[in-house]
Amino acid sequence: MHRLVTLLAVLFLAFPAHAAKKPNFVVIFCDDLGYGDLSCFGHPAIKTPALDQLAADGQKWTNFYVAASVCTPSRAGLITGRLPIRSGMCSDRRAVLFPDSAGGLPASELTIAEALKKEGYATAAVGKWHLGHLPQFLPTSHGFDSYFGIPYSNDMDKVRGTASHFELAAKADFTAYNVPLLRDTAVIERPADQRTITRRYTEEAVKFIKAKQKGGAPYFLYLAQSLPHIPLFRDKAFHGHSTSGIYGDVIEEIDWSVSQVVAAIRESDDQTYLVFTSDNGPWLTFKTHGGSAGPLREGKGSTWEGGMREPTVMWAHPKPLKKGIVHEMGSTLDLLPTFVSLAGGKLPDDREYDGYDLSKVLDGSGSSPRHTMFFYHGEQIFAVRHGQFKAHFQTKERYTGQKKARQHDPPLLYHLGHDVGEKFDLAKAHPDVIAKIKALTEAHKKSLKPVENQLEKRAVGN
Ligand code: MG
Repeated sequence: MHRLVTLLAVLFLAFPAHAAKKPNFVVIFCDDLGYGDLSCFGHPAIKTPALDQLAADGQKWTNFYVAASVCTPSRAGLITGRLPIRSGMCSDRRAVLFPDSAGGLPASELTIAEALKKEGYATAAVGKWHLGHLPQFLPTSHGFDSYFGIPYSNDMDKVRGTASHFELAAKADFTAYNVPLLRDTAVIERPADQRTITRRYTEEAVKFIKAKQKGGAPYFLYLAQSLPHIPLFRDKAFHGHSTSGIYGDVIEEIDWSVSQVVAAIRESDDQTYLVFTSDNGPWLTFKTHGGSAGPLREGKGSTWEGGMREPTVMWAHPKPLKKGIVHEMGSTLDLLPTFVSLAGGKLPDDREYDGYDLSKVLDGSGSSPRHTMFFYHGEQIFAVRHGQFKAHFQTKERYTGQKKARQHDPPLLYHLGHDVGEKFDLAKAHPDVIAKIKALTEAHKKSLKPVENQLEKRAVGN
């Protein structure tokens, strides 16, 4: 009898009954999608029924920020949970990585994929990377088991020619952009046929989800759509799909893509979390080929709200999130700590994190731990939000031809609850708020350590 009890105890310890399978995570990350571009965020013409349904069944986040207002630093923030100033992935001289860049995300950084691999996850990256195109920087060197996508922006490697993005999009001519399509580290197509790229990313994503549902390990899928970044392309099936022109067609194809991913997730009863957002605001220079920031000021490249607040939807299956609209703050910086927490892991204590664990907001058991957001422009802090107040120490209008940043002392101060369009400066009335924000900024600056800049390194010969 004693032996039997001992045996049962050993078995219980080896196979505890409560050891539920860890949840899966899917991140769908668009490129240059504006705050006002989805119908669930108020767009009056573009139709996004799949995302609207997810928002209705899950959570719509209205105060969700990215780590920077341009591609590379924003992506570095999401993938590491740390502001790009900590990894050398932002610069005052070169805003993003280019095909002549020799830098990329340092191996010393811990990506979401690497953090989850430690917890036994299978991982895949599909879509645009833009954290270094050399082999040592590609997803397969940063914790992803597989990669299918383009290593930098879809408008790079432009072949000499005078045709504008508008003309090329109208002709569906993708050959002017010699962008490679990679599988893991090998180029499999060049130029990448961008007309079918959203569909092919979707097929890859769905294939991965279905394969992993049959396997034993939980999974993390990072699906980074290369659109609606210009030049705009969409599959034949979406030509004229939207009443909102080619930009609407592109968004509606992305919404279709979301519906396919969700259908695949629904095929299994393993708990799966999905986050949909974008890397930065709309590229307003491109007129009808750029999106809309809705009620927010400015767009891509600026530290006004339109550059860094993104339309964000979170959803889970089969156990739903606490349904509703979340007005509290969140950020792509928070995804790594949140996923690690939901996977039952711990963050390493050898580095500073700028992200917070949002899991209590997801299940409704608590409020968001994020009360502050730093708005970096390159390597400098241009603005800081704390609570409902946002102070701008410097501003740069991205779309008015203003060459130099404007300094503000005292900073401009806006109440984002009363004035989401950042129009009415309240600095004179709230010196206490400015003092508090300055103290938070100083404390943050003290936590920074000098690192090698990755965006300013160029390949020999360039
Ligand atoms: Mg972008």
